[in-house]
Amino acid sequence: MAADIALYKANAVPVGVDQAPHLEFTREVVRSFNHRFKTDVLIEPQMKATQTPKVLGVDGKHKMSKSLDNHIELAATAEETSKRVMQMVTDPQRKTRKDPGNPDVCNVFSMHKIFSSSAEVQMINTECRQAGIGCVDCKKIFARNLNQHLEPFRARRDELAKDPTFVGDVLEDGRKRASTIARETILQVKQAIGLPEFSSR
Ligand code: SF4
Repeated sequence: MAADIALYKANAVPVGVDQAPHLEFTREVVRSFNHRFKTDVLIEPQMKATQTPKVLGVDGKHKMSKSLDNHIELAATAEETSKRVMQMVTDPQRKTRKDPGNPDVCNVFSMHKIFSSSAEVQMINTECRQAGIGCVDCKKIFARNLNQHLEPFRARRDELAKDPTFVGDVLEDGRKRASTIARETILQVKQAIGLPEFSSR
């Protein structure tokens, strides 16, 4: 990972909070290399976290991850997404519709804070605590808002799927640009180390 970042001279890396230690390790490697060989060839990358640096999966326990099968598939249809949302774990202490809930420990509420309006967040925060809203209705609101948010991305994805040549060209263009930067970095690193062979091969 450190090599993948340093090779392309990334100065900022978008990561989730759980990746922060890996990025810190990369920064140390870069600092150490530059210090040892008295160079500034490698760039020390900054962490670029979003406002929601950690998102839990539908299990409400672990970070959202495809390999844990607790994710909401971005490529899924609106119906599939709603179905997945309905599987989300809520406040475990809320056993029945009549029991008041605690949004502070509920992952659905955390998701509302990302995708729902502040008026809806406020309403759920109040109503959940007095059993004024049930988890099914709460999830339906979240599913609707999530689907609205994802709609433009789905439309764009469908468009791109119809034009594989364009997608291939974009990927090839990116590959060429990345390859140029990587070759240049390897050359500079070899020069900094003092290797006699300055070829990037
Ligand atoms: S009503 Fe919403 S916030 Fe409250 S426990 Fe159920 S899903 Fe969570």
